[in-house]
Amino acid sequence: MRAIRLGLAVALAAFATSAFAADVPAPALPPPPTAPQAIKPVKPELFMVTGAGGNVTVRVTPAGLVVVDGKNPGQQVYDDLMAQIRTVSQEPVKVMIVTHHHADHSGNTGRFAAADAAVTAHKNLGGLLERFTPAPTAGNTVPPTKPTVTYDTTHTVSLGGKSVRLFHYAPAHTGADTIVYFPDLKVVAMGDELNAANPNFDYASGASVGGWIRSLDATLGLDWDRAIPGHGAEPWTRDQVRVFRGKLQTLLDRARASAKAGTSKAGFVASLKADDLWSFPANFWNAMRTDGLYAEAGGQ
Ligand SMILES: [Zn+2]
Repeated sequence: MRAIRLGLAVALAAFATSAFAADVPAPALPPPPTAPQAIKPVKPELFMVTGAGGNVTVRVTPAGLVVVDGKNPGQQVYDDLMAQIRTVSQEPVKVMIVTHHHADHSGNTGRFAAADAAVTAHKNLGGLLERFTPAPTAGNTVPPTKPTVTYDTTHTVSLGGKSVRLFHYAPAHTGADTIVYFPDLKVVAMGDELNAANPNFDYASGASVGGWIRSLDATLGLDWDRAIPGHGAEPWTRDQVRVFRGKLQTLLDRARASAKAGTSKAGFVASLKADDLWSFPANFWNAMRTDGLYAEAGGQ
């Protein structure tokens, strides 16, 4: 009987998952934060580097490289990243784009700037970097460098006859997210607006689930077929991005319904029953995220 019950539960869980995913394969989970770095081709002249923090995207042009994000802070991490990049190109890094301020993406801005890359980001990133707390790792002695090029809603990098377009559609994972679009290759690099583990709402840095959904909708309006997530082992398809967007909408709908029903803040997270959407870490729903989503959903 126990085995039958267990089997039924597994079957129901599998049904719930597949019904949600609409037969779209789940994104490959991120490698552990300590995993060694590895570079892999996504398209001709475009690569992703996994391991040691957020994913890095590398665009090769005849006049130099455009690199998106810079992994965990630290000289060894930076040296390892450049060693991975040097397996595919000897060109200098001319532009480093920072998708958002979190240390696992922005940690080595100073090192890229010292190597003469134009560090490029949304105009709100500098203010968020001021609150950057370096991880207590050995060798992390270079403070974060503010971007030397900033923009408000859109910006185009032209290099070696190629265009790279930057968009800030809305506050989403943070208040200074950048979506990076490579139109000739039909690829977007989305920072942590895509995360194979679970989305992280950094309300302390201006996050918004509603804005996040608008940003994904705007990104889906661009012509591309591969999206590079901030964390995850593989590029995503458009269908995988649509499933992720749908889960964010479900979470927001549940949050609004719960707030409208008068749920107290104390009972709010349990009322969301969000475990069918993502496996959130045990400490995920801290006061910052609970208060933020409760307020966004109209709770009072
Ligand atoms: Zn992040």
